[in-house]
Amino acid sequence: MSIRHRLAHRRLRRRQDAAWSPTKWALWSLPRTVLGYVLAVEIITAVVVASTFDLVAITAGDWIRLLVLAAGSAIHIEAARDIERLRKVGAEGIPYTNLKGMWTFAGVLILPPPLAAALIVSTYVHSWLRVRRVPPYRSVFTATTVVLAGAAGAVALAAIRPGVYPGYPGGPLGLVAVVTAGLAYWFVNFALVAGAIMLSNPDSPGRNAIGKLSEQLIVAGSLGLGVATAALLLSQPWAVAVLLLTILGLHRALLVEQFQAASRTDPKTGLANAAFWHEIARREFAGAERTSSRLGVLYLDLDHFKAINDTFGHMAGDEALKAVAAELRQEVRDNDLVGRLGGEEFVILLPQTSAADTALAAERIRRRVAGLAVTIPTPTGPVLCETITCSIGAATYPESGSSLDELQMAADLAMYQAKDAGRNCVVSAPANGGELPAS
Ligand code: GH3
Ligand code: MG
Ligand code: MG
Repeated sequence: MSIRHRLAHRRLRRRQDAAWSPTKWALWSLPRTVLGYVLAVEIITAVVVASTFDLVAITAGDWIRLLVLAAGSAIHIEAARDIERLRKVGAEGIPYTNLKGMWTFAGVLILPPPLAAALIVSTYVHSWLRVRRVPPYRSVFTATTVVLAGAAGAVALAAIRPGVYPGYPGGPLGLVAVVTAGLAYWFVNFALVAGAIMLSNPDSPGRNAIGKLSEQLIVAGSLGLGVATAALLLSQPWAVAVLLLTILGLHRALLVEQFQAASRTDPKTGLANAAFWHEIARREFAGAERTSSRLGVLYLDLDHFKAINDTFGHMAGDEALKAVAAELRQEVRDNDLVGRLGGEEFVILLPQTSAADTALAAERIRRRVAGLAVTIPTPTGPVLCETITCSIGAATYPESGSSLDELQMAADLAMYQAKDAGRNCVVSAPANGGELPAS
């Protein structure tokens, strides 16, 4: 077994052991506010579900419909497993949306509440076991938010068409009831998840917790399919098989966004790759020319990086690269773009930045990298590496070039001069007389 496999195996074993000893649960390591929030939501959910036990009589038909929906959901999860794994990895720190609503919302519409809750729980347990092992408390929390969302949907439905719930309400008023239930379901789930993400990541911008509109369209689509599933299950149950095949066919299209992000991103560091950086840089440069504004470019090469590889091994070198990339991203402004040119060479675009500010930014970045202490995993245990430094070349429009190529060449040359000057320093390209056109 390779070291990587052995480590992965050990991690899995540790996690399995922890699952059976409540004192070791990752749940307890959450910050107090997050823990309180999660537990409160879970307790409320338990109370809500318990209070629905005697609301509606459960018939044999209900059990059959529960089985059909649970089976549909299980087949869907199995068939789309590889796709969902990829999507989930890309959704860390933002709400991860999925198509489970197609089955769970159908259950909310046509099943008695305790059975709808059972369907939701079985769907999320299955998904936790088979898609991607996040700490169990996260899946438990997500499932409880969906159960509460379902309760909100059921309340809306029962309020508008009391005689029909649970079941499919026909006619125009039925449509109003179903749409209102969908909105209530969506809103409660969204608000509870966004609340947890905001509490857990107090430093990241609130818009991360809200996620992308395209992701919310996926939820809307899955709820729409849930309505279709519910109606079909009551009138033409066998036709649900066709719906299942249809969704399996369409599910793969959800990866388009992931592929798009992957084509722009350097997989090792998560920074922009060289091609995407150039695309953005070209656009920003054209904008700077058009509006007579300034723009800075930094070339950054790590010093004696080969020595880190030679001392600690290539994998350790990779960890150091990731750590540097994260520092670079944190040190620049939101509008700046950090890219990885290849190897241990990075490039940073600073739109709307004067020569003086570019030099200041370069110096700040140099100091931050020099102050970095990276814990590097090695076969003999973690090692603290505090010797990483970088050499930076800075160039600015219009002073050091009148085209993007000229700027890049000037920054590259300045970077080599920084190496010659002894490394761990910044060199700014000389002004060659370029001036902003008079406006
Ligand atoms: P200096 O730049 O200060 O002149 O010395 P250096 O040792 O950094 O030399 P250079 O920039 O020419 O070499 C880059 C080295 O970085 C070569 C290679 O060992 C290492 N390297 C490049 N890409 C990667 C990578 O993706 N992962 C790891 N671990 N190492 C890399
Ligand atoms: Mg290099
Ligand atoms: Mg180097």
